[in-house]
Amino acid sequence: MTDSSVDGMVVVAGGGGFIGGHLVQELRRLGHRGLRAVDIKPPDEWYQTFPDVDNRQLDLRELNACRTACEGARQIYNLACDMGGMGFIETHRAECMMSVLINTHMLMAARDAGAERFFYSSSACVYAAEKQTRADLAPLRESDAYPAMPEDGYGWEKLFGERMCRHFREDFGLQTRVARYHNVYGPHGTYQGGREKAPAAICRKIIAAQMAGETEIEVWGDGEQSRSFMYIDDCLYGTRALMASSVVDPINIGSDELVTINQLIDIVEDIAGRRFRRRYKLDAPKGVRGRCSDNSLIKEKLGWAPSIRLREGMEKTYGWIADQMAAPAASRRAYA
Ligand code: NAD
Repeated sequence: MTDSSVDGMVVVAGGGGFIGGHLVQELRRLGHRGLRAVDIKPPDEWYQTFPDVDNRQLDLRELNACRTACEGARQIYNLACDMGGMGFIETHRAECMMSVLINTHMLMAARDAGAERFFYSSSACVYAAEKQTRADLAPLRESDAYPAMPEDGYGWEKLFGERMCRHFREDFGLQTRVARYHNVYGPHGTYQGGREKAPAAICRKIIAAQMAGETEIEVWGDGEQSRSFMYIDDCLYGTRALMASSVVDPINIGSDELVTINQLIDIVEDIAGRRFRRRYKLDAPKGVRGRCSDNSLIKEKLGWAPSIRLREGMEKTYGWIADQMAAPAASRRAYA
């Protein structure tokens, strides 16, 4: 991978978020200087901040804010988005679709600033619902996004965003790269408040039950819905590899280690060293029945695919969330 040789400004939009914060940290580690991180939240609410980075608070739904964010930029990663887990996206469809303003204005600003490359974080939520009706269906190949019937709201916004990237590349020559992330998890992410996703939510429920001396946890759905979960380090490697590559069409960046939610809970219980009774809440938001990443294309194009085992990644995630929950409230960041 040759991206560490990039001179000039690299912008991470959504740098106050989970993946954006880790990406800024990784780019710093690789020796990038001239980093700008942008988020709508004030920096003291970001998951991670670094004093040697140009940290800006801007609302990227606004074109002028995007112009400020992209000024002098050579490479731009757009990870900014108003989103969350199933509990959020099934109940905030209009808000999710408003993120179309972020990517559209970021593309316009990137083009006008003369940026060389633009990365867009799309999602497995673009995949057609009919391909995800059973827990044991075949993993999703990139072509399964069409004919289109993505997740209502969030998925449509992502599919539109993908197409905007393609057309900005074709019509204006802006080099765009599009990843379809599948369920990313790890430390320094949301674990409570309504936007959290299954891995973090399950860790929190088990830790909270242990702290309160309870014997039961609530599970959304019947626990037999299936997913794959990608640890943040694989996400970061795949993101940078895709950005440095010549792959212009959307590509899966996700794990192909398929588990049911019940199996994910088994893993977290093993880590916690305790079993809990499961109270299944069948009317809770649960998303599609089954979803897994088909990694044939990424292996062919990048010679790599995510490989960090769920158990390994969940141990680190659980440890971080347990530390956060054990810390006195005053020392936790506002997001936690
Ligand atoms: P996140 O919510 O932690 O980060 C997104 C950041 O964007 C937040 O810090 C938020 O404040 C910021 N943001 C929202 N609206 C903004 C605005 N108007 N202007 C500026 N900043 C704004 O989410 P994440 O998990 O880090 O996800 C990053 C990207 O990856 C998103 O585009 C998301 O849709 C995509 N994605 C994530 C996952 C996952 O499992 N985490 C899966 C698929 C796709």
